[in-house]
Amino acid sequence: MAHLYEQAYFDNGLRPIGEAQLSIASSAVLYGLSVYTVFPVHTNKAGQLVAFRLPEHFERLINSARIIGIDTFEQNWTAKKFLEAIKLVVTANDVKDKAFVRVTVHVDELVPGTRSRGLNTVLSIFIYEAVPILPQTGARLKTSVWRRIPDYAIPSRAKVNGAYVNSVLAKQDAIDSGYDDCVFLDAAGHVCELSAANIFLVRNNTLITPGATSDLLEGINRRTILELASDIGLKVVERDVDLTELYIADEIFACGTSAYLAPIFEIDARRVGDKTIGPVTKQLSDRYFKILHGDDAKYQHYVTILG
Ligand code: PMP
Repeated sequence: MAHLYEQAYFDNGLRPIGEAQLSIASSAVLYGLSVYTVFPVHTNKAGQLVAFRLPEHFERLINSARIIGIDTFEQNWTAKKFLEAIKLVVTANDVKDKAFVRVTVHVDELVPGTRSRGLNTVLSIFIYEAVPILPQTGARLKTSVWRRIPDYAIPSRAKVNGAYVNSVLAKQDAIDSGYDDCVFLDAAGHVCELSAANIFLVRNNTLITPGATSDLLEGINRRTILELASDIGLKVVERDVDLTELYIADEIFACGTSAYLAPIFEIDARRVGDKTIGPVTKQLSDRYFKILHGDDAKYQHYVTILG
């Protein structure tokens, strides 16, 4: 279990994490009616604590709430208020080095039935130890027996808590079979993503990733990799990906806040490349980690200094 920091933000103020509680009668608990995001904080070389792509995380939280119809969040929160709350909680916990910050908008109205509009919401923030969800030295994946929930059933680009039962099923299936994580396919059999990370492959020096309409979460790290790859002159394609393309890829990696950038060395008992970090993955990874830590001069605008 990852270590939890003691002070949480809940209901407009700080409180000990054990006292930040939702009612068992709230929609958040009854239906998983909450939306969330997670972003990393790091200390840069100058000793400042920086958050990665904070405005994009706030925007995605707003968009997730909008898609689901949780309208009171947007009415009550601004980017400025959000930043102040983040600063308050990282300062209260004296966060140094690196950590993950999880922000959730919970519908805490009691027994309103299965609806979403005009209901009370409460925002929670807590901080936990940055333990990656995938090994960083070559992960092993298994195609999931569970398909990714299609956008027309539960929207994939909304980060909604209840939908994560789909990820839990697929990840546990992978673990039960001795793998690190799953590859989700959509109803048509195309590759979507992992349980909580996006996927990239390299074939013939082209970087390929499933498109944003492939029933996946539009990851902020996915966007970062696409921007970085174009910037350094790599050929990049967003398109449908067949499972068998993964079997013959030169390189595969996953990316996401909690996965960082994780090279994949095996999929469905087939090795990827020669089971070493390939040249494209290495080039992107070296730069990505510098950007994430706020130590890349060109990408300083991707980090917000928190203190
Ligand atoms: N897909 C899913 C299903 C996820 O839960 C995550 C983690 N948030 C990602 C992709 C990666 O998104 P991000 O880069 O914004 O962390």
